[in-house]
Amino acid sequence: MMAQYLRLKADHPDTLLFYRMGDFYELFWADAEKAARLLDITLTQRGQSAGQPVVMCGVPFHAVDTYLARLIKLGESVAICEQVGEVGASKGPVERKVMRVVTPGTLTDSELLNDRSESLLLSVHAGTRNFVGLAWLSVTGADLHLAECPADALEAWIGRIAPSEVLYSAEVTPAFENRLKAARSGTAPFTLSIRPAWQFDGGLGERKLSEQLASVSLAAWNAEGLTNAHAAASALLGYAEHTQGRALTHLQKLVVERDGELIELPPTTRRNLELVQTLRGEDSPTMFSLLDTCMTGMGSRMLKRWLLAPRRDRSEAQARLEAIAALQTTTAGSTALPWRTLREQLKNTSDVERIAARIALRQVRPRELVALRLALAKTEQLAPALPAFAALLAGISNDFAAPPGCAESLVSAIKPDPSALVRDGGVIATGHDADLDELRAISDNCDDFLLQLEVAERERTGITNLRVQFNRVHGFYIEVTQSMLSKVPDNYRRRQTLKNAERFITPELKAFEDKALSAQDRALAREKFLYEQLLDALQAHVPALTRLAGALATLDALCALAERSHTLNWRAPTFVAHPCIEITGGRHPVVEARLAEKSAGNFIANDTKMGPQQRMQVITGPNMGGKSTYMRQVAIIVLLASIGSHVPATACRLGPIDAIHTRIGAADDLANAQSTFMLEMTEAAQILHGASAQSLVLMDEIGRGTSTFDGLALAAGIAAQLHDRTKAFTLFATHYFELTEFPATHHAAVNMHVSATESGRDIVFLHEMQPGPASKSYGIQVARLAGMPAAVVNHARQALEALEAQQTQTRAQVDLFAPPPEVEAPMASAVESALASLDPDAMSPREALEALYTLQKLN
Ligand code: ADP
Repeated sequence: MMAQYLRLKADHPDTLLFYRMGDFYELFWADAEKAARLLDITLTQRGQSAGQPVVMCGVPFHAVDTYLARLIKLGESVAICEQVGEVGASKGPVERKVMRVVTPGTLTDSELLNDRSESLLLSVHAGTRNFVGLAWLSVTGADLHLAECPADALEAWIGRIAPSEVLYSAEVTPAFENRLKAARSGTAPFTLSIRPAWQFDGGLGERKLSEQLASVSLAAWNAEGLTNAHAAASALLGYAEHTQGRALTHLQKLVVERDGELIELPPTTRRNLELVQTLRGEDSPTMFSLLDTCMTGMGSRMLKRWLLAPRRDRSEAQARLEAIAALQTTTAGSTALPWRTLREQLKNTSDVERIAARIALRQVRPRELVALRLALAKTEQLAPALPAFAALLAGISNDFAAPPGCAESLVSAIKPDPSALVRDGGVIATGHDADLDELRAISDNCDDFLLQLEVAERERTGITNLRVQFNRVHGFYIEVTQSMLSKVPDNYRRRQTLKNAERFITPELKAFEDKALSAQDRALAREKFLYEQLLDALQAHVPALTRLAGALATLDALCALAERSHTLNWRAPTFVAHPCIEITGGRHPVVEARLAEKSAGNFIANDTKMGPQQRMQVITGPNMGGKSTYMRQVAIIVLLASIGSHVPATACRLGPIDAIHTRIGAADDLANAQSTFMLEMTEAAQILHGASAQSLVLMDEIGRGTSTFDGLALAAGIAAQLHDRTKAFTLFATHYFELTEFPATHHAAVNMHVSATESGRDIVFLHEMQPGPASKSYGIQVARLAGMPAAVVNHARQALEALEAQQTQTRAQVDLFAPPPEVEAPMASAVESALASLDPDAMSPREALEALYTLQKLN
């Protein structure tokens, strides 16, 4: 047996091997030690193998899901090895096989998956010319995604995809591996899995993709020529198949994502706007937790995808807005809002998307099939209830067409209330199969037979309290109490002795037992066979079921947006072609909700008007005045509009947007050993490089991390760059009062401030955005409000007066915003020009050597 174990283990060296032995999954040696530590279970030693004691631990098979869940959460992978042969069928140990490998990125069990979020598997291939190929999928989803990105954008892509597991080749450079490890220390850590280099093969990937999609070329999917992405896909599909033990036939759609199609939301933006996680790493309150009132997990997952991947092209957003409008319009003769009725019906709909995938993977459980049947019945009712005049809803209604015959075969095959597992029997409906019914009849007739036998034997033996019974351990028996033993006839053979009674068996009862038990076994085997047959038949319906699931998810997400708009009093945005961000009465939805929850007063709405003539707002005002809230609310409104949601404002007009960049103070990034200031400058630099005239940029308190003069000078330089060169829509909050002079010399910038008034020595925040610079910074008042001891406040007040007096005397006349003298760019030297014209990727080693000699001569 140990030899068999070691053979299986050799195929899964980096994975914990759960080796089935009867009612337990056992782990041995290093696996056992690791599992015992991680799961806090007892390690034992038994026997010897090759002179060493066998260290082992085990988990009971019926509780395996809980243990799996814990291990997966810790980033481990587990290979599940089952007994597949008949016990005692051949010499040596029973045949065993690894049936599937459970890894963090390839989860299929509903017990292990989170309803409302996806578990994604991403494969990355460090390709040629500094490009990285990406391919990703959810094993329980229907889409396969491909992309190619410049190497330096890899972290941003990984951040956006948020995978649970990332595959990479065993032959990547250490630098590349380090970057992957660094990306892992972000907010959502993932497991890294190394795969053999040969699996990352462009040609193989292209073939596998064509096979998967059953099409001769990838042209139909606009996915030709992406060699790097194909290489990533080759390893991705290989690994997914390896873990599931079969091909993923349910993946039918290929989505190629290209740089420039999405509105860029860098990881900093997702974090600062608290889209799916708070700054503290919690799930709520976030933009998504506020938005997600979906009735199904499918809907939630869809909505999250929308929120994190807004498109630059507005057609999709426009279609959603049109659908939301339709869902909010009552139809003639009815007062009910369509979204409200639909949401009622969507309630408790099962996760058709995952069920369809589990059918394809042949892992679906009987009760899921019952749930699927109910969902099919529901969609049939839903289709006519959809308002027909929005194109998106009409499409959904089409996709609701249940695959013909699918519901019928489910009704005919599965009992309305089946057992949880096929192995327990009681799954296939009566009347579905004559053989099964007959086998079941034999065991069902047991009771009658036993009663008849009991009557007959009592009469024959004169033992009036004789009983004929059955239990699972001992089978059938005739029980006679101690006092009656003398009357027991000769043909009774003793089976078991109890305290007050003896149990017997007769040849007649034994014959019946054999027949009944074998009927039961055969019925169970027949049920398993029929279940497999049903799965075969269902395979043909998987594509239609997947489409139906997509339609349900979209409808659910749209209804949630309609509900949010209604409940939170949001309005539809309009899109225009000219550059502008115009918001009337804008609110920050999460802050507003928090104020409402705490009954802490009303949220003060503010307007925003930005266009080519007014691209930058320099925002000043006291701390706690509402600067950050205002800036974030503008970004959130722009994002919500871009996904086709209504927005927390009375009106919103939006020109084209290509990115939302944010630089907002955060805690030190200790994991990456970067100081606050270094981080601040890195992020600011990234924005200056990445932003364009169609980007929205939020800069909160830039320069705070260093000395006053340094910080002020840098802030001035950054503001000038954003205004003069980048020309992005910029909200620039600052505590450097000197920067309020910036708009005087920069025509597209204006001063804005958050209002506050003094009442006695206290400060009252009005949270209104007003034109012009703030008159005072109120730092000392805020400190007082925060409970600073009076002595400190008084001390500070005196010190401030002294400082202000000194500054008026010595204020140097420095023009902060004067452009620096143009430095003439030095001419490139001959060596530099020659070097720039080389293409190292296209050179043979010999050509490279020659080029080196030529360069040396030029010098
Ligand atoms: P700042 O960035 O100026 O220091 P914040 O934007 O962090 O200030 O706001 C501080 C607090 O003021 C918020 O937590 C919120 O409770 C409140 N607040 C901000 N803006 C508004 C508003 N428009 N209406 C009502 N309360 C607001």
